[in-house]
This record gives sequence, structure tokens and C-alpha cells, in this order.
Amino acid sequence: MFRTHTCGELRLSDINKTVTLSGWVQRVRDKGSLLWIDLRDRYGITQIFLEEGMSAPELLKAARELGREFVIRIEGTVVERESKNPNLPTGEVEVRPSKIELLNASKTPPFTIEEKSDGGDELRMKYRYLDLRRNPLKNNLILRHKLAIETRAYLDRQGFLEIETPYLIKSTPEGARDFVVPSRMNPNEFYALPQSPQTFKQILMVAGYDRYFQIVRCFRDEDLRADRQPEFTQIDCEMAFVTQEEVLNTFEGMARHLFREVKGLEIGDFERMDYATAMKLYGSDKPDLRFGMAFEELNDLAQGHGFKVFDDAELIVGIKAEGCSEYTRKQLDALTDFVKRPQVGAKGLVYVKLNADGSIKSSVDKFYSTEILQSWAERFEAKPGDLLLILSGDANATRKQLNELRLEMGNQLGLRDSKVFKPLWVTDFPLLEWDEDTQRFYAMHHPFTSPKPEDISLLDTNPGEVRANAYDMVINGVEIGGGSIRIHDRELQRKMFTILGFTDEEAQKQFGFLMNAFEYGAPPHGGIALGFDRLTAMFAGLDSIRDVIAFPKNNSGRDMMIDSPSTIADAQLEELYLQLKKAED
Ligand code: ASP
Repeated sequence: MFRTHTCGELRLSDINKTVTLSGWVQRVRDKGSLLWIDLRDRYGITQIFLEEGMSAPELLKAARELGREFVIRIEGTVVERESKNPNLPTGEVEVRPSKIELLNASKTPPFTIEEKSDGGDELRMKYRYLDLRRNPLKNNLILRHKLAIETRAYLDRQGFLEIETPYLIKSTPEGARDFVVPSRMNPNEFYALPQSPQTFKQILMVAGYDRYFQIVRCFRDEDLRADRQPEFTQIDCEMAFVTQEEVLNTFEGMARHLFREVKGLEIGDFERMDYATAMKLYGSDKPDLRFGMAFEELNDLAQGHGFKVFDDAELIVGIKAEGCSEYTRKQLDALTDFVKRPQVGAKGLVYVKLNADGSIKSSVDKFYSTEILQSWAERFEAKPGDLLLILSGDANATRKQLNELRLEMGNQLGLRDSKVFKPLWVTDFPLLEWDEDTQRFYAMHHPFTSPKPEDISLLDTNPGEVRANAYDMVINGVEIGGGSIRIHDRELQRKMFTILGFTDEEAQKQFGFLMNAFEYGAPPHGGIALGFDRLTAMFAGLDSIRDVIAFPKNNSGRDMMIDSPSTIADAQLEELYLQLKKAED
């Protein structure tokens, strides 16, 4: 038998028991006559103690030959520790071994396997199996497991069926770039890996499975960032015979269930905000509502006083940083540099300090009287001690820049506490987005999203103004997921494809299967997909999704451990009717 207990299990109540443990040697501390081994497995660490005179000499000898990450099995007796370690669940006991058996030796690991490792990212990804032994990663995977189990429990109770959809599907030009897979049996033809099971889940609604879900892998061949991986996991859901309100309530309920069961937190009701309001008040379709600092617009109060920058601007808009009137020249310069960085792109920053003594000082004193500056302060409901930060220019760009500044101020003022959760539904997204480069409309969500019924008439006259029955779940400024009520009428779907620039033939070739299905009694339906990796990262308090995925890829989309992607044999290429082309530098 390899073990009677795990390395995380023994307590004072086990004293005098004879036990067998197996695990990895985390560390050996040899003080000459005294020697300790930290024995680790998935469940925890147990201290093994040997003492010259008490322990058999051959045991001490065996212990001295152990190295880091050796795999051993020990038999021994549980005793109370003399100096207890309150930080360890097993910290009140230790085991005096009567036998130490080496199960397997280990090379010295290339980095330390402790809470904090000394290894760089790439090295830890190459030896992912060693990194996964570390507590932070282990805890992330346990958290991920719990979230998956509770997701299934909730959705099952709500009558959802988990149904698998295929991974080898058909390439579609819309959306992100597809990963494709050549078909050996069908020369010169390709499958695509799904960017999401969108069309399949809609077809399941036509098939009568009115509540579907799947915790499912999706694939998008996009450039990578901290919160993106070429393959990622969604909680993908679809419901038939529902209104938008019912979809929102169902998934708000799911989020509440997960926070309650997995984190022991009551997050309360979600706020609701339409897209236009979110953009106007926060310059973002995913505002972080853990703090206020909503935008105020100043065009009417700031134009016509000879300050050309403001007079020429489409929009003058600012935020109030409470209690920041004492910001120094240096701090204000740093904020100006922040907004002027190319990633933000503002030309400059105007400030107004409402000093504690009631006086007002601004960077535009030359153009504006104290009375006018006072009227700005009133618009912000600002008090002495506050600081106003104002940007101007093209409306859309300026709002985006001010969003960055608002988030930066939120960080500087410690208003973005990772233990506080402020969920929000953003609704009524625009249906279409105009792209200047290609001079055409793109679907903002995807081509199956339904316009709001009251806006359908605008499709012919002013498509850019049409709002969609589309919604995003946003928590703390992170888009956790999104979905929509779908088009279930063949004619409307056809019209949508026309607006998106498809000819009837192209639409038929790409999506004929869906439009055909819509001719056989498609029920009204809608759904959502939540990013499971992002949700887990948020629960873990992490910004990056990489460490909530067991085997992630690096920033160039490589799996460093298995060294993939890789070339394939000529015979394989031939079988697939593929020819290699020299990569261009
Ligand atoms: N399939 C969509 C996505 O991946 C989500 C949805 O509309 O349900 O974003």
C-alpha cells in the first residue's frame, strides 16, 4: 500500500497512529543531529523528523541522500511537534519514520517549487508539470473545477441539457480568423475549428432542445494578449421561448450562485445600463463600477471664451478626483504624460484644482474667470479639496481616452479592490459597426443577433443607428460574457446577410444550413456565452487567464512543453494534398 493518509491530512487526533505517506520531497533540512523532510502531495505538506540516536542510522543515511522532488514512501508514527507551525494545517504534528523507501529520484528542478517560484515564464511553461506542483497553480485548478461543477449543478437544476457539438466544422469568413484542419478523405477541403458553437446551439433550438449548455473549448486564431489564448473555454448557453429579460435573470442567477457557492459572497442585483449611457458616462462598454467618477460634459460652459483647444473640440469632458486638489506639479505632469502616451493618445490634459481654502487654480486660468471655473465645479458637484481632470477633442476618441484616465485614477486612489465585485448588464448594443477600411458594416456581436423590433424599420434607412437585443455581462470592468436574442425569421436573417455585404449565393453557401433550418419552425430564442477562463481568473484575483489553464500557450501561440506547432512529415503533407511555402520574414 502506498499511503494510509495524504500529506495534508494528519492532525493532533492522529497521534500515535502508524501511517504510510507518499509524496515529493519539498525540502530536506539537515542540522547534523536533527533532520527534517517536508513531504508534499496535492493535499499539503507533512513534516518528517529524524534524530541521531532515536532514528536508525540507515534511515538517517537514506534521508541524507534525498534531493528536491524525489518521490518517496515513508512509514512511521505520528507525534506531537515541539514547535508547532500555525500556518500549516498539519503543523501540530510530525511523523517519525521507521522506513523510508525511494520510489523515484528526480533531477534538480530548473526553478524552485514554492509559493513564489524563481523561474521565468517561458521556463515554467516548458516544465509545466513542475510549475503545476506549486500551490498557486494547484489552487487555481481546484477553483476552476469547483466553478465547473457548480455551473453544471445550477444549469441542470434550471433544466438545461449539456449537449456536445462538433469541433470539426466549417470555416466562416465573419468574426475572428479560423483555425483550419485539412481533410485527408476530402482532398483540398478543410474543416475549421469552432470559434464558438453559435450556429449549432441555434439549430438545437430548432430541434426543440429548449435549454442547452456546454462547457466548451473554442478556437480563435487572433493575436494574443494576457487575457487571450488561441483555445479557450466558454460556458455556452441557449434558450428557446424566452425574452431578453428571462435570459438576463437566468444568468444573473448563475453568477450569484457561483459567487455564493464558490466564494461565499452575496453580490446582490446586477446594475443595468444601456450601451449609449455606458459610453457617455464612462467612455467604455464595460465600465468598472467599483467606483464613481462618471463623466461630466462641459461644452456649454467651456466654449466661446477664447480657448481655441476647447472651442474647436467636438466634446469637452472630464472627471472629478475627490480629495486630489493637493496633487503636485509632478503628479499632474505624470497624469499628462499618461494621457499623452500613444496607447491613450490625448493631446493634453486640463486640470482645475478646488483648493481646500476655497480658491480655484487651473491650467487654463488665462481663459476662464473664477466664476466660470466655479460653474464647472458645480456641474461636477465638486467640493473644496477635489480635482477636475478634463480632456477634449473628437467625441468618441476623447471618451475612450478619459476612460483610460478614469481607470488609472481608480488604480492610483486604490478604488479597484480585487475583493469587491460590482456586476453589471450592458444592454442595447448597436447592431452594426461601420468599418472605414473596408467601407462596410460588420455585425457588432455576430450576424445572428436580432435588431430591437422597434428599430427594424431603420435597417433600410440608417443601419448604423439600429440597436440590437444584445447584452454583455460585465464585472469590475471585465467583459465576462455576452449574448443576444437571435433572429429566427429566415427573411430577416437574409436581409441581415445582405447588409453585411453577402450576396444571396455567398450567404447560402456559408449559412444555408441555418437558414434552411429556419424554414422548419424555428422558435424564438436567445442565449449567452461566458468566458470560463476569465471568470475563473476573476475568482482567483488574477488579471491573466494563463494560470487558470493547465496547459496554456505563450504569447506566440506556442505550447512550450510539447513544442507545438511543429512541422509534419512529408508523407503526412502528401496525404493531405498540402505543399509547403517558404515563410516570408
Ligand atoms: N457565440 C457568442 C460568442 O462567442 C455568444 C452568444 O451569442 O451566445 O461571443
